[in-house]
Amino acid sequence: MTRKSLKQTLFALALCAGVYAFAQQAAPEPAYDLLLRGGHVLDDKNHVDGVMDVAIKDGKIARVAAHIPSASALKTVDVKGLYVTPGLIDIHVHVYAGTGERGSYAGDLSVPPDGFTFRVGVTTVVDAGCSGWRNFEDFKDRIIDRSKTRVFAMLNIVGAGMRGGKYENNLSDMDGDATAAMALKYPQTIVGIKTAHYAGPEWTPVEQAVIAGTKANIPVMVDFGVDHPERPLYDLLTKKLRPGDIYTHMYSGLRHEQDPDTLGPSKAFIEGRKRGIYFDVGQGGGSFKWSLAVPMIKDGFIPDSISTDLHVTSMNGAMKDELNVADKIMALGVPLKQVVAEMTSHPAHEIKHEELGNLSEGSIADVTVLRVENGNFGFTDMVNRRFDGKQKLLCELTIKDGRIVYDLNGMSADLWTAKPDAHAAEARKWTTFAPSHEH
Ligand SMILES: [Zn+2]
Repeated sequence: MTRKSLKQTLFALALCAGVYAFAQQAAPEPAYDLLLRGGHVLDDKNHVDGVMDVAIKDGKIARVAAHIPSASALKTVDVKGLYVTPGLIDIHVHVYAGTGERGSYAGDLSVPPDGFTFRVGVTTVVDAGCSGWRNFEDFKDRIIDRSKTRVFAMLNIVGAGMRGGKYENNLSDMDGDATAAMALKYPQTIVGIKTAHYAGPEWTPVEQAVIAGTKANIPVMVDFGVDHPERPLYDLLTKKLRPGDIYTHMYSGLRHEQDPDTLGPSKAFIEGRKRGIYFDVGQGGGSFKWSLAVPMIKDGFIPDSISTDLHVTSMNGAMKDELNVADKIMALGVPLKQVVAEMTSHPAHEIKHEELGNLSEGSIADVTVLRVENGNFGFTDMVNRRFDGKQKLLCELTIKDGRIVYDLNGMSADLWTAKPDAHAAEARKWTTFAPSHEH
């Protein structure tokens, strides 16, 4: 290299550096990745109920405040007129799909989670007992580790899992110690113990579930199976379960949930709630009746948590999805703010994952943007009776770990005729929909 060309090269390098420095100075990297502006924030845990902007950075909630300037974010989405909530948590689903087993919740009766979650604002689900300690690791490998939805699990107290009566009534496969050992092996993923569908008169499933739940320090969720006078609901809720355990299918009417005289909650329910038992909806295919929900909610016995009991039968039946179940509770007069709490902070607390279900600064940026539609809507129950309502929730936008994973109307996308976004190159920081290359 000649002395002259070296000089020219150095000059060119200096110029480049100068231009680069100037460019950096002129357009500093915005402080936030994504900004939701002008929405009505409902954050039960932090007692926020009002119009606020929400800023997200590196997958975490960075700031929630009244006026955050657009220029401070790579991408701003206008959400005026909409509700901004923590990502919804559905603590009763069945998602152990894909094994090929017929007539089994560890198989054909389950659904793959991602097709049913983000589109209704759900970012976290809890599989309620499809797997037991014997097949949990297969479930984890097959579904949990491969899903975009955050999937937690409650282990079935039956080691073989929820695979039909032949397995689920086998008392010799209900081992609280083995179940606890598996739960303790995966404390980040296993959030509870499930007992369900038991047809016999024994307390064994409940007792073993409580042993497992106590050893692993996680709650037990009960589907109380076939009604038996030998194991009354009153004893379950006042003696057998611990405070913090969860009674699902609360409006099913299959096991004396309702007081036959007042039509309000039974004495078992009233005493159970006093003791700190949580009551969960779990509509499913056959576990929600208007003849219970209407008088019990009128009486003040509202859910602690709203869940779906999603599976192949409920998905197209009366249940439909998480928002449809929430619509039903709203139709009975429970305010939106409370309904959102029952899908966010409450279930997060029940499964002891308090890092979820809130918009605290620094917490995981799972966020849902909901529209309240006004009109005439019909909502059905397990006996195909209808209750009419005037409001319906619609999910516009779902954000998981700080990135947009669902966008019903493309509100985060630029119009096709617009000039490329100034920050298009960094789009992957705020959306999963960014093109993988420029062409
Ligand atoms: Zn279920």
